[in-house]
Amino acid sequence: MSGNADPRPTGEGTTSRTRLDRGRGALGPALELVHTGRAPTRAVLTAELGVTRATAGAVAAELEALGLIRVDARPGAAAGSQGRPSHRLAVADDGPVVLAAQVHADGFRAALVGLGGRIVATAPGCETVDADPAKVLGSVVEAGAELLRSTGRRCVGAGLAVPSAVAEPDGLALNPLHLAWPAGAPVRRIFAECVREAGLTGPAFAGNDVNLAALAEHRHGAGRGSRDLLCVATGHRGVGGALVLDGRLHTGSSGLALEVGHLTVNPEGRPCHCGSRGCLDVEADPLALLTAAGRDPGPEVSLLQQAIDLISNHYDDPSIRTATEALIDRLGLGLAGLVNILNPDRIILGGLHRTLLDADPERLRAVVADRSLWGQSGGVPILACTLDHNSLVGAAELAWQPVLDDPLGALAP
Ligand SMILES: [Zn+2]
Repeated sequence: MSGNADPRPTGEGTTSRTRLDRGRGALGPALELVHTGRAPTRAVLTAELGVTRATAGAVAAELEALGLIRVDARPGAAAGSQGRPSHRLAVADDGPVVLAAQVHADGFRAALVGLGGRIVATAPGCETVDADPAKVLGSVVEAGAELLRSTGRRCVGAGLAVPSAVAEPDGLALNPLHLAWPAGAPVRRIFAECVREAGLTGPAFAGNDVNLAALAEHRHGAGRGSRDLLCVATGHRGVGGALVLDGRLHTGSSGLALEVGHLTVNPEGRPCHCGSRGCLDVEADPLALLTAAGRDPGPEVSLLQQAIDLISNHYDDPSIRTATEALIDRLGLGLAGLVNILNPDRIILGGLHRTLLDADPERLRAVVADRSLWGQSGGVPILACTLDHNSLVGAAELAWQPVLDDPLGALAP
């Protein structure tokens, strides 16, 4: 990010400034601890950072001065490690935000997201996605800019989630199979141009929607505390996967790892847009469920919502149950292969897969156990994603990352 040196002139530092100079390297880690809810008090922050109480106090004060966190010293705060009341720490309610955007097969959405994964405001989702990515991204950024105007919040960056692998280092959407976009569209560059044209400041980022969902769940949801977190989820169409290792997304050598949607789970299955047959992408997504249940997709709500509603409201109908079980079995087969290869300590499921898990958790766990070497011990917990809009929150995480890495450098005027 910003390569400027420490902006503080030397020779006029107070005692607390001197402490902060020593603690500047701790600002980012401290902010991340508060951002992810792992440091609810200054005493916990002190212990987690492994610094003196005075340094932790100076670090918290500086983050508060930057408008990023709130330090609450009122009596009655939770006891610290010494049994003394400790100052409570929380992300600032009125601090800066980032613009988060998501494009999916059935529309797009813009939101403002604060620290802590908090969605501050959202623009109504649009229902159609133009074949020209520049038109779509222009509209979604304009919706976000309108939210910024109406809320008056300071914007420090922007992040975009797309239903495609995003190739690095150039930020190309390689396989937007469920959008009419051209393969290889330079989505990050287009998004960054739209952000600049809208007059917004801060860097712009783009990533795959399921990767970003996994990142958000790891920091704020069902993946917290996991070391080797596997996330598998449907979007509105298709299936994606992601792996978070030691808190960082595993993206592979060029951003294309974990393309789990094209694992074969049914060799005789239906043709896939990738050219193969029986991929998870076409055997375990919302359209696959509607087709297996003999339902014609209607135009009224998204395919994802229609599929979720079908299972949630009609699971006692034998044809719906049979279709659901067929999808659970195919998903389980895919998960079993992934468990053998990746040895995750937790699996989280999103989109329609979360509903499949809720419908019959024992069946899914049994398939994974029966079909995988490492699953037989039953040692891999399979959980549902817990965040609403986790891809949006994950897109925001991308935009927050420079601030988390170096709060002073990223926010310096
Ligand atoms: Zn495929």
